[in-house]
Amino acid sequence: MSALENSGVLMTVNRRTCLAAGLALAATPILRVVPAGAAGGFAVEVAPGVFVHRGQHAVFTPANQGDISNPGFVVGRDAVAIIDTGGSPIVGRALKAAVTAVTDKPIRYVINTHMHPDHVFGNVAFAAEGVTFVGHHKMERGLLARADRYLAINKDLLGAAAFEGTKIVTPTMKVAATETLDLGGRTLELTAQPTAHTDNDLTVTDSATGTVFMGDLLFVEHIPTIDGSIKGWMALLDRFGQNPPARVVPGHGPAALTWADAANPLQRYLTTVATDVRALIKQGRTLAEATESAGATEKGAWQLFDEYHKRNVSAAFAELEWE
Ligand SMILES: [Zn+2]
Repeated sequence: MSALENSGVLMTVNRRTCLAAGLALAATPILRVVPAGAAGGFAVEVAPGVFVHRGQHAVFTPANQGDISNPGFVVGRDAVAIIDTGGSPIVGRALKAAVTAVTDKPIRYVINTHMHPDHVFGNVAFAAEGVTFVGHHKMERGLLARADRYLAINKDLLGAAAFEGTKIVTPTMKVAATETLDLGGRTLELTAQPTAHTDNDLTVTDSATGTVFMGDLLFVEHIPTIDGSIKGWMALLDRFGQNPPARVVPGHGPAALTWADAANPLQRYLTTVATDVRALIKQGRTLAEATESAGATEKGAWQLFDEYHKRNVSAAFAELEWE
């Protein structure tokens, strides 16, 4: 049994990570999170029948086995839908075991919120007859274009043991606008979003509880990563903010939060980066100069800042250079 599959060990690791998060975590209210002993300790029930596993704030390492994002699942009267599967088959199997611990209803859908490996590389653990994989209509194209690189990088970072069995599994049900999945007694409303975090972000709204799985359209504590459009992302957050969901599940961060707690720091980060980059472009500065100074005031506010911030500035610069 691996460290991750032994949930006792996983919880210990996560508790330590949480403590390291310090004040940022303490200040973040988590809604109706009850310890889900019935889900094997792997997931918490954030609303009736809505379960979320909280991943670590980390890059892929052999020690974390790809457990670095927030997969979850929703249990209906007739069936279960998985929302994201973690970054390795090991995480996918742990999630599957958490489902089995709380219900004997069949898993009918596996929904991916976007193409990134930390959200889809556990898919293979769910591949079976009667399971439909669901994603944004642009997800397959994006994932297949990067598949070789993603697989090579993941194998390198995770090591052979945690990477073993990883396969690319793409959606067969492709959402171009909106779709509804009926789980019995509750539906999931799927919405293909315009380009923001990536060009294939899909949101999942549970009709019974108003919980919205936002995927990586929301990063909390963990610095966001811009792989789509900073302008599109800011516009999307503004739009959601006009009619905010009651409860959101971010792709990284606490299992569930209010819209304001999740979105405000992210909006501040994106606005700061965009404002700084625009000013530097106006001054005729180069991309290299911009990566040294744009958004530097955000450094203390985010975990993994050094790993991703310069890449975010580069992406913003490339986009805003041409407005
Ligand atoms: Zn992610």
